[in-house]
Amino acid sequence: MDDVIVCGGGIAGLACGVRLVAAGLDVRVLEEHDEPGGNVRTLSDRGFRMERGPHTFMASADDVFALADETGAAPDLMPALETSGVRFIVRDGRLHEAFTGPLSFIRSDLLSLRGKLDLITEPLRTTRGDESDSAARFFERRFGPEAARVLAGAFISGIYAGDPETLSAPAAFPLFWGFEKQHGGMIRGGVSLMRERRRRRRALGAAAPPRRKGLFSLRGGMGTMSRAAADVLGDRLELGAAVDAVARDGDGWRVEVGGRTLSCRRLVMAAPPHRAAPLFEPVNQRLGEVLASVTLAPVAMVHMCYEKRAAQIPDAFGFLVPRGEGFRTLGVLFPSRMFADRAPDGGDLLTGFVGGMLDRDALELDDGDLLDTVLGDLERLVGLDRRPDHVRVLRYAAAIPQLTHGHLDRMQELRDTLEGLPGMHLAGNYLRGVGLKDAVASGMAAADAVVLEAGRR
Ligand SMILES: Cc1cc2nc3c(=O)[nH]c(=O)nc-3n(C[C@H](O)[C@H](O)[C@H](O)COP(=O)(O)OP(=O)(O)OC[C@H]3O[C@@H](n4cnc5c(N)ncnc54)[C@H](O)[C@@H]3O)c2cc1C
Repeated sequence: MDDVIVCGGGIAGLACGVRLVAAGLDVRVLEEHDEPGGNVRTLSDRGFRMERGPHTFMASADDVFALADETGAAPDLMPALETSGVRFIVRDGRLHEAFTGPLSFIRSDLLSLRGKLDLITEPLRTTRGDESDSAARFFERRFGPEAARVLAGAFISGIYAGDPETLSAPAAFPLFWGFEKQHGGMIRGGVSLMRERRRRRRALGAAAPPRRKGLFSLRGGMGTMSRAAADVLGDRLELGAAVDAVARDGDGWRVEVGGRTLSCRRLVMAAPPHRAAPLFEPVNQRLGEVLASVTLAPVAMVHMCYEKRAAQIPDAFGFLVPRGEGFRTLGVLFPSRMFADRAPDGGDLLTGFVGGMLDRDALELDDGDLLDTVLGDLERLVGLDRRPDHVRVLRYAAAIPQLTHGHLDRMQELRDTLEGLPGMHLAGNYLRGVGLKDAVASGMAAADAVVLEAGRR
């Protein structure tokens, strides 16, 4: 009998497994694919390195840096080139640089004068929302209608590929929601957070962690992190091992995998909610129903590989497209302009995103039509009229969890239900946030809970 079985070898399951090994527990991580990492994997082809999911993480993603330390991947951490600080948002048929400070705000024509006034008078607005606020209602209340549609709209396309009307403000934007609740507004909250961080650094003195800025990835792509975690796990990670069923077994758990029956004292379910739901339904119907109620946005990624540099593309992170601007593409990243090793010398890699909650039918387009959609938008926006030399289209019918109205209550219900199922833990990016850092944090938190439960501290 294993101490712990982790079902799912995405980054959440891997982060969990690595921590459990460090705590001295017998752990087995079961992953259905023949490669570890789930969405955190990198495809290499002819010198191009194409991500299956996240391209970067922020300097503030402490848990991701901790995972790099715990897996030995830290030497491969790589800051993005300085120009990746430049981001564009599409408005009125062209790219506008997103503002980075007061001067660029004044000069920018991304918003009208009225839109800018609404934005800078945000601290004067004293209204408070209620828990049922959608992201659309929240941002409109704080920033006014124009900035909400353009800035928050771009942000929501980029993070959630979501519908601002159905995303829950407190669940999908807990930091900003907290700013309003505790400080009376976003700008006040942001200033207060910066002051608090500065105060904490001063208090820590020489013990303060290294100051980091900007965006990061790893040499060779994000998949380097997953491979490093897999190396730590060694033969405790089983690939090509799809979990078919789970059931209570005395004080522990029984797991059916490819005709084998395994037993464990504790089980961490790190599969995405729509995959975990049918496994749980026979164990606890309500748990299965709550997991099945989490909707995931469909997304297609179009990697466009150019052997010769695409001269029309600026040195930048990429651009995002708010809905309602007349373009189907959600955004295009410029990975080779962020990290030098993403394309062969003199080449370029561009990655377009299509789909999302407001354009679910996009995934029915064939690969050629998806490519033409992104290329057509690139031609209109930057004048790029050259077709790529190689293309990889990746489709996800269920990519990004949507933290919609009632999500926080549903997650509380999950936690309450788990109280009655000792030895069962959940990890994944639908629990506390949808990004890489939240997925890693959820895996680490599950591991810490298992260790505590097992009395190994
Ligand atoms: C297209 C895309 C772009 C993204 N971009 C960003 C970004 O820029 N920044 C950011 O922070 N985040 C981004 N994310 C989100 C980030 O990738 C996720 O938060 C993170 O990878 C989720 O990790 P996870 O382990 O929870 O889930 P997953 O990566 O989905 O891993 C779950 C694993 O469980 C396995 N599994 C499922 N069922 C079973 C079973 N029955 N038995 C065994 N194994 C099973 C799956 O094969 C998979 O490997 C993006 C995601 C996508 C899809």
